[in-house]
Amino acid sequence: MQIAETISAARAACRSLRASGSELGLVPTMGALHQGHLSLVRAAQESCGAVAASLFVNPRQFGPNEDFSRYPRTFEQDCALLRSAGVSLLFAPPVEEMYPTGADTIVEVERLSNRLDGASRPGHFRGVATVVAKLFHILAPHRAYFGQKDGVQVAVLRKMVRDLNFDLELVVCPTVRDPDGLAVSSRNRYLSEPQRSQALVLSRALRAAEERVAAGERAAPALLACARRVLAEAPEVRLDYLALVDPDTLEDVTELRRPAMLAVAAFVGGTRLIDNVLLPP
Ligand code: AMP
Repeated sequence: MQIAETISAARAACRSLRASGSELGLVPTMGALHQGHLSLVRAAQESCGAVAASLFVNPRQFGPNEDFSRYPRTFEQDCALLRSAGVSLLFAPPVEEMYPTGADTIVEVERLSNRLDGASRPGHFRGVATVVAKLFHILAPHRAYFGQKDGVQVAVLRKMVRDLNFDLELVVCPTVRDPDGLAVSSRNRYLSEPQRSQALVLSRALRAAEERVAAGERAAPALLACARRVLAEAPEVRLDYLALVDPDTLEDVTELRRPAMLAVAAFVGGTRLIDNVLLPP
């Protein structure tokens, strides 16, 4: 696995991978890799001849009071995981390489960027869209792989790809969960044992709503109330939002007539966790 720390080295490596006739798959990450990230790598390998990953803890998507400086950084371990997963190129630039002094251009997906996580984390999706647009330009993949776990991010990036005519396919992979249902996340390592148990109400709430849908419920208020009842079982968990929305527009839906995303964000101690499920009509 080649490790490129500069944009020019990454460009040259991708150019030669493409020249060898391979379709290139890209898996963007912030490192602290886990099974969720590795599922994206495997999906990329299934349909692309070569896979590149990026590892960049993007300062522009963290708010001033968020966890940028203490975000877990496990570079050596991440390299070993990606190498043994068969990744051809790791692009791991320093911050100054991505944002040299005077880098003022931003990508803003208006409206969507201010919904749900965007409402709670002002500027977050501007940071995400800007860095992902840069990665797409630098590495020029045929396909880019993202997790449904970050469902609002998927909506924002899908819209960005469409609006800015990126010539690539955005592939969304299912959320990987621990056996007890907790969605795998780099931030789960912040949780103490009791907090980890409390955090299970998120996936339990989503599953309860899924079961109501399977039993025939279609009305949003009933599904939201069902999920909220489960969330109330862990009063220590502070709800940020619970919403049933169209997965593309992120507008609230009142009734399941098309697939909808039931999404939740909550604080467990100081850790903000998110999860979602797609509910069938
Ligand atoms: P991150 O390193 O947190 O920015 O995540 C990098 C990519 O991995 C994003 O596309 C995430 O949606 C995806 N991802 C994170 N957790 C999971 C998970 N549990 N299952 C599937 N994909 C995930």
